[in-house]
Amino acid sequence: MWPAYNPPVEILRTAAGVHEWRDSIRRTGLTVGLVPTMGSLHAGHRSLLDVARRDCDRVVMSLFVNPAQFRAGEDFDTYPRDEKRDFSLAEDAGVDLVYCPSPGEVYPPGFSTGVTVGGLSEVLCGRPESRGPEHFTGVATVVSKLLNAVDPDRAYFGQKDAQQAAVIRRLVADLEFRQEIVVLPTVREPDGLAMSSRNVRLTPTERELAARIPAALSVVRETTAEAGLATGLLAGSDFLAGAGIEAEYLEARDPDTLEPIEDGGSRPVMVAVAARIGETRLIDNILIENPEKAEQPARSRT
Ligand code: AMP
Repeated sequence: MWPAYNPPVEILRTAAGVHEWRDSIRRTGLTVGLVPTMGSLHAGHRSLLDVARRDCDRVVMSLFVNPAQFRAGEDFDTYPRDEKRDFSLAEDAGVDLVYCPSPGEVYPPGFSTGVTVGGLSEVLCGRPESRGPEHFTGVATVVSKLLNAVDPDRAYFGQKDAQQAAVIRRLVADLEFRQEIVVLPTVREPDGLAMSSRNVRLTPTERELAARIPAALSVVRETTAEAGLATGLLAGSDFLAGAGIEAEYLEARDPDTLEPIEDGGSRPVMVAVAARIGETRLIDNILIENPEKAEQPARSRT
């Protein structure tokens, strides 16, 4: 048998080049899917690429470590980067085009615009003592630029970054972007840890401890099913504390508005957690469709 043939992936580094590519596709009427990434690809990214590949005629992956979403003192300089490996994984996934701009291409001298999604950007990771609302302004601004540059029919994001997904859904609705936003489930390691580019930084001991984060979410789910959401959240916090993990937050929120939910009931609830394991900050979340009847573990549903 011949190996499957994937044409070599095209790599463009300027928005002007992407516009030209897009114009040539537009003339054919083919559909385009966009998967924005910061690279250092893993199976979570691959799951987005696979669905885009399945549902769209052409797939664009952007690869850009966006300085605007990192604060001074965060890990922008040390964020894992391996362009060559990412190009080759993108090619394996059947990506047609990688848009890989430099910071100077995205933010040329004089760049002064920021897109801020109020409210949603100020809670959870957006609190000043966490990453701050500017993080989400950085995200919303770069996603706006990518949607404009690539003008896909659909753009794909992961539920792993639930707050980011909520911010992007709001942004697209408010500014009347016409692209469909598709949010796909979190891909996990066999022990439940959500895949993340930052996981490579964990030492073996930290890696073992990190699995307690999804385990805590499972405790929330299971206890919520038996005793309600408030008790579930307390049990999750106790579980983390017992493992020696100091959570930045463990909270239940509405998945769209991110308003706090304390008592559950029958509406879907997103339970989100952020915690530092050594030097590495990790986030995770689960959706509980019906907190009064929650029964499945974190590993099988997100
Ligand atoms: P990043 O490269 O971390 O900015 O992520 C790029 C996209 O991949 C975002 O939409 C993320 O939400 C998504 N993503 C990251 N990790 C996962 C995961 N474990 N499962 C599913 N999607 C993910």
